[in-house]
Amino acid sequence: MGATRSELVNKAFTKKAVEVESPSGVLADYYGELVFDRAKMHKYLDAETLRRLLDCIDNGEPLDRKTADGVAAGMKQWAMEHGVTHVTHWFQPLTEGTAEKHDSLIDYDGKGGVIESFDGKSLAQQEPDASSFPNGGIRATFEARGYTAWDPTSPVFIEGDTLCIPTVFIAYTGEALDYKTPFKKAIKAVSDAAVPICRLFDPKVRKVYTYLGWEQEYFLVDEDLYAARPDLMMTGRTLMGHASSKNQQLDDHYFAAIPGRVAAFMRELELAGHKLGIPIKTRHNEVAPNQFELAPIFGEANLANDQNQLVMNLMNIIARKHGFVVLLHEKPFDGVNGSGKHNNWSLGTDTGVPLLAPGKDAKGNLQFVTFFVNVLAAVQKHNGLLKASIATATNAHRLGANEAPPAIVSAFLGKTMTEVLRKLLEVPSDTPITIAGKSGKSVGLVEIPEIFVDNTDRNRTSPFAFTGNRFEFRAVGSSANCAGALTTLDSAVAEQLIEFKAAVDKEMESGKKASVAIMDCLKPIIKEILGVVCFDGNGYSEEWQKEARKRGLDTETSVPEMIRQFTSDAAVKMFTGLGVYTKEELEARNEVKWEIYSKKVQIEARVLGRMAINHVIPAALEYKSGLLKNISRAKEVFPESYKDVCKTEIDLVEKISGLVTRIEDMVEEMRVARKNANAISDEYGKAVAYHEIAESLFAIRKPIDKLEEIVDNKLWPLPKYRELLFIS
Ligand code: ADP
Ligand code: MG
Repeated sequence: MGATRSELVNKAFTKKAVEVESPSGVLADYYGELVFDRAKMHKYLDAETLRRLLDCIDNGEPLDRKTADGVAAGMKQWAMEHGVTHVTHWFQPLTEGTAEKHDSLIDYDGKGGVIESFDGKSLAQQEPDASSFPNGGIRATFEARGYTAWDPTSPVFIEGDTLCIPTVFIAYTGEALDYKTPFKKAIKAVSDAAVPICRLFDPKVRKVYTYLGWEQEYFLVDEDLYAARPDLMMTGRTLMGHASSKNQQLDDHYFAAIPGRVAAFMRELELAGHKLGIPIKTRHNEVAPNQFELAPIFGEANLANDQNQLVMNLMNIIARKHGFVVLLHEKPFDGVNGSGKHNNWSLGTDTGVPLLAPGKDAKGNLQFVTFFVNVLAAVQKHNGLLKASIATATNAHRLGANEAPPAIVSAFLGKTMTEVLRKLLEVPSDTPITIAGKSGKSVGLVEIPEIFVDNTDRNRTSPFAFTGNRFEFRAVGSSANCAGALTTLDSAVAEQLIEFKAAVDKEMESGKKASVAIMDCLKPIIKEILGVVCFDGNGYSEEWQKEARKRGLDTETSVPEMIRQFTSDAAVKMFTGLGVYTKEELEARNEVKWEIYSKKVQIEARVLGRMAINHVIPAALEYKSGLLKNISRAKEVFPESYKDVCKTEIDLVEKISGLVTRIEDMVEEMRVARKNANAISDEYGKAVAYHEIAESLFAIRKPIDKLEEIVDNKLWPLPKYRELLFIS
């Protein structure tokens, strides 16, 4: 017999913060200590190797074997100084999280002994047996070969005793089997599409960067309580649990003082992140109890995304040192806020000009408005696809569930930018756009108040919000790989920019100067987007659902249906045209998504069924049996009036019996539904069937939660919401 719930609760409640060792020196002394960054490259590589490597990183030049050998030698020296014994290619398959297979550096020295060995080939390429990763039928198991290939644009790092090399993961036949490959292609596509437009403003521009600043929300739960909840362990969320009397209604958790144990966890996490060159900056309590957030300074998107993946790994490991388990699930608890991962997204030139922030002068403002409007046009055209890009079984509990963004992708501009766009429609195309700077002085067309950039004008109900110098894609789920959403966003923007540039060229051929041609091309787009994708109102309201449908925005709420967007004609045309995905890759990925969707729901359904039968019903029956004993004793003593004497007991017994029967029936119904769903062979059809099952989980939970409310607290085996959410 294990510890009782109340023993677990007492143990959890009395835990003290774990001491965290302070680093020696100031931040600059240890920041990036465990990454092979540019400073290390300068230190450990000879001049020629360094030059070639930087040429590869900065200009995309290919890297020859000799250079790779030189780089590997430098890395090996650095790594061994840090006690490294193993090396791994670190990649992002289509599962959740990252994958790594460690190889010792051991090799024969040819003289009967062994040495540490690491060369350019091991750096550049590995051949993990790929048959057990999701591939959507691209690679049949008999052809199990997959390749990982070094991504030199994301620095190598050390975790524990292992040198980790960020890599892409592709099939023998060349198709991408990961998140990183298409993401890098989309980042390049948007750069290639944006540069010709930037050059109309500044001919020196050679590259456009995608920037990402993610905000990671998460919950912490005491590990002893977590271990007593099979649903948390198996599915990452609670499948049952009556709401606690106090939740987040007092708004007393948001930004509140950080509890000691949590602060210690955060401190250690930040330290580990900083050593890995991850510029973690912000930490705070989030809205729901035991919910927190962490955010770094934004950076180049491919690297920033790798860092997010790494941080999620670190969180899992470090939380345990502090007696917590971190929940990255989008909706671990019903009735309180779920967790997202806002993707702050922007574009900027290699000359240092941000493209989604007001410029320094009229020319800069025109460039800003050009990109701003085209991004909105892209989001409008592919709003259904963008929603599909964040649609998962877990994120579905957040979207449209009257919190976080609704299941409609619209864009929030704020009053100022809406006015800017409206005014542009009224004036001649050669009117210079003047936007007030920080000085607050302004002449000309449009005045943006000084507070603009720091504007707190926010709309929590919008999935895609402009926040002064970037867009915030808020609909991304907390457990997601950001690349899923941003590959789609970058691709959509790239496609739109290409189309736009062609239109501008045509106008210029007829003799218009660039600024007029641009404005003439922007105007019809502005007219179009203001009435469709731009929406500053309440995204949760019923009216918006109706209005959005009228405007032609995608209002689908079923995840398996949303996923189909990826193989729509428009999506296939866009992705294949840009070289981001082939049609086969799109089809294969959909198979994977449907399969993962079905399996996640299947696991939840099984866990819920078993918990109902093995945990909930026995507790209820034990209570009932005690009540029945009372009643029968009362009957002996008060044969006439026992029904009055035991009114409460009888009432409870009836209620419990009714609820238990309902639960049993529903669990059995669900089992049959599962059996039927499992018999469907195509993944889409199966996912649709599992979508129905997903909906039915709510119904089963209701009588269970009702039982929790009436069964003797001492007999209830599962840690309750008030314990999971309020002990830290
Ligand atoms: P809030 O919660 O108010 O949205 P945070 O400070 O939590 O703000 O997070 C904002 C995130 O946006 C940070 O990661 C920040 O670095 C990032 N960010 C700021 N400016 C840009 C930009 N131009 N492009 C991309 N990300 C940005
Ligand atoms: Mg924030």
